[in-house]
Amino acid sequence: MLNSELGTSMRFQTLKSALHFPERKVEKPTGINTPVSEYFGNLTFGLAQMREKLPRDAYQNLLKTLEQGKKLPKETAEAIASAVKEWSVNKGVTHFCHWFQPMTGLTAEKHDAFITIQSSYHSEIRVIERFTGSQLIQGEPDASSFPSGGMRSTFEARGYTTWDPSSPMFIIEDEAGKTLCIPTVYFGYHGQALDCKTPLLRSIEAINHQACDFLKLIGDVDVKRVNVTLGVEQEYFLIDRNFVALRPDLIMTGRTLLGSSSPRGQQLEDHYFGAIPSRVKKFMQEAEFELFKLGIPAKTRHNEVAPSQFELAPIFEDANVAADHNTLTMEILKKVALKHNFVCLMHEKPFAGINGSGKHNNWSISNDKGENLLEPGTTPHQNLRFLAVMAVVIKAVYDHSAVLRASIASPGNDHRLGANEAPPAIISVFLGSMLEKVFNDIEQGKSSQATDAQIIDLGVGKIPNISKDYTDRNRTSPFAFTGNKFEFRAVGSSTIVSIPMTFLNTAVAATFREASERLKGLIKQKGTRDEAVMELVREFAIESKNVRYDGNGYSQEWRDEAARRGLPVLNSTAEALEIFKQPKATDFLTKENVLSSEEITSRYHIMVERYIKTIDIEIDTLLELVQTYVIPTVEKQLTKLHQSHQAMTLPSLKTKHMVRIANLQKTFEDILTRQEELMKLVDQVQGLHDEGQRMKKLASEVQPLSYKLREACDAAEKLVADELWPLPKYREMLFTNSLS
Ligand code: ADP
Ligand code: MG
Repeated sequence: MLNSELGTSMRFQTLKSALHFPERKVEKPTGINTPVSEYFGNLTFGLAQMREKLPRDAYQNLLKTLEQGKKLPKETAEAIASAVKEWSVNKGVTHFCHWFQPMTGLTAEKHDAFITIQSSYHSEIRVIERFTGSQLIQGEPDASSFPSGGMRSTFEARGYTTWDPSSPMFIIEDEAGKTLCIPTVYFGYHGQALDCKTPLLRSIEAINHQACDFLKLIGDVDVKRVNVTLGVEQEYFLIDRNFVALRPDLIMTGRTLLGSSSPRGQQLEDHYFGAIPSRVKKFMQEAEFELFKLGIPAKTRHNEVAPSQFELAPIFEDANVAADHNTLTMEILKKVALKHNFVCLMHEKPFAGINGSGKHNNWSISNDKGENLLEPGTTPHQNLRFLAVMAVVIKAVYDHSAVLRASIASPGNDHRLGANEAPPAIISVFLGSMLEKVFNDIEQGKSSQATDAQIIDLGVGKIPNISKDYTDRNRTSPFAFTGNKFEFRAVGSSTIVSIPMTFLNTAVAATFREASERLKGLIKQKGTRDEAVMELVREFAIESKNVRYDGNGYSQEWRDEAARRGLPVLNSTAEALEIFKQPKATDFLTKENVLSSEEITSRYHIMVERYIKTIDIEIDTLLELVQTYVIPTVEKQLTKLHQSHQAMTLPSLKTKHMVRIANLQKTFEDILTRQEELMKLVDQVQGLHDEGQRMKKLASEVQPLSYKLREACDAAEKLVADELWPLPKYREMLFTNSLS
C-alpha cells in the first residue's frame, strides 16, 4: 500500500521520499576506491610530515618540546608555520583556525584567512599568503561567549588558545572550501583551563609522572615515559533526514519526546551484527574515506542492538589524539550522514523502549618501550607488574567511583545508566572469573589454585602465568577488564571523552602516588622488593574488594548489594554532580595539578547549567508538541468519531462505538490534566533561584511528570487514525533503513 495509496499528508509524503531514497544517486567522492594506505592521513600535518618538511634542528627542537616540555624556540615556530602554510596552500587551503574544545561539549573554531596586506612604497596594495609562528602558536578568540562557569569576570573576558603540538593539524574540506585546523588548548588570563583538552593533557602528565615513579620502585629502573592509550567505540543512530525534519523534538533536543513503541523493537535480536543495509553501507564507506584522510584509523563497523543503530570503532591511539579524533569522528559522521540524507543521532537515548547509545572508552597505559602495562606478560616480573598495575587501577576506581560517575553525568546519559540495557549508575569493576579468582586468592594469601592457569613460583607466593585470551565478557559492567585494557562502558555517546578520561587518569595517577608511598614502607618491612609488591597488591585488593562485581549489573539484587557494600549509588545527574562540591572527594584532582578548586567549581556550574537548560528545552518542546500537534489531532479524531456516531443506526453498534469515543475522551482528559499539571510545576520551578535546587526539582518532579504526559500522548497515538497522526512514527523512523 505504501506507494500509490498513500495520502497527501506531510508524513506520507515523507515516507515516500524515504522509501524512494535508493533511487536517488549520492555521488561517490573521487578516490574512494583507492587503497587506504595510499591516502591515509594525507590531510594531516603531524610529526611524520614535520620530520619530512622541517629543517633538522627545527624538528629536533620540536621533539624536545614534546618529550621534555621545553619551550619551543621562536625560530622553530616560524619554521613550522612556514612549512605548514606551504603545505596547506598547495592543497588549496585559504583559511586557518585554532580548533578547541570549550566546555560546551562541542568544538569551536574561528577562521582567519592566510592573507596579509603588503603595501609597497607607491601605496599600492598587494595581498600575500602569510602565516607566522605566533599565529600558529597563539590565538585570542573573543572568549566572552564561551562558558567559564563563573571563572572569568567580564573585565578580563579574554581567552587564549595555544597550539597543542602533540595532536596533528588537519584540513577540513567541503564545498565551502578548505581550512587548516590547529588543535589548541584554551585558557583564561590567569591560566585557568577553559576547555576540556587542557585538563586532559595535565592528567596524562600526572599519570606519566606517578606511574614512572612507581614502576621505578618495582624495578623498571629505565622507564622514561608512561602513555595513556585510548580506543573509543562510538554508537549512533541513522534516521532518514526527511523524518527528522518533521520531528520538532529531534531537531530541538536530539531525542524523541513522544512516540509509541512499534510492535517490533529489538526483541528478535536480529539487528546486532546483522547485515548492514546497503544505503547505510554507502554512508559508512564515505564516512570512513573522510576519516582515513584525516588519519583516523576507523577499523570496525557494525550494526548495534537497536534497529537503525550502528557502531564505529577505531584502532586505539595516544589518549590525547584519540580524544581529538573521537570529536572529529562525531563531526564527520554527522556531516557525511546529511549528504546521504540521514541524520546521525548521537544522543544517548533518541528512542524510548529500545537501546540507547554509549561510547565505550577502551583505556590502558603503556611504557616507552610500547609495552602495555595491562597486558599479562611472559616473565615473572612482567606478571608481577601486571598485577600491581591492575591493583592500582581497581583501587583508583574504588576510591574515586563517585567522581567517575559524575564525570559521565548528563541528562542524556541519565536515560541509559540504571536502565535495563546499559551499565548501571553504580561504578563497579568486572575482572572476569579467572582474574577474580586470582585476586581473591591473593587477598587470602593463598597461592592461586586456578586449574587452567600455569603457576609460576616467584618465591613470594604464587602468581599465575596469565595468557591473553582468558577474559569472559560481562556486558552489564560499567568498567570491565577485557584482556589487556579496561573498557569504561558507562560513558554516553555524546560525551566529550576528554572529560571522563581526565578524571580516570587522575584517579589512577593519585593511586600510583599512594602505591609508591606505601610500597616504600613495605620494602623496609618485607626485605625483598617482590614480596613487598605482592603485599601491596594484597592490601589494595582487600581495600578495594567492594568495587569488584561479576554478577548481573542490571539486576535489582546488585543495587541492593551495592548499597550494602556502601558503594555510591548515584542514579541521576542531579545526584551525581553534587560530588563536585565535596572537597574530600575532589582533592586528588588538585593534588595532582589537574584541576584547581576554582576549575572544579566552574565545571560543576557549567554541568548544572547545561542540565537545567537541556531539561528546560525538552519540557518547552514537549509542551509545544502537545499543544500544537497532539491536542488538535485528537480533537480532529473526536469530531470524526462523533460524525460517524451520528451516521450509525444500529443501536448495539451505537453503544459499542460510544466505547471508542469514551476511550479516546479518557485519554484526551489525561493529556489535558497532565499538561496543566506540568505547566504549573514548570512555573514553580522557574521561581527557584538556587541552581542546585532547580536541578533537583527538574530531575525528581518535572521529568517524571513529563513522562506521564508522554504516556498519555503515546496512548492517543494508538487510538488516532494513522492518516491523521502528524509525526513520523517509531516504526517508520527505525525500520525504513532496513528496506534499502
Ligand atoms: P573487544 O572489545 O572485543 O576486545 P577489540 O579488541 O577490537 O574489541 O578492541 C576494542 C577497542 O579497544 C578498539 O578500539 C581497540 O583499538 C581498543 N584497544 C585495544 N587495545 C587497547 C589498548 N591497549 N589501549 C586502549 N585501547 C585498546
Ligand atoms: Mg567492546
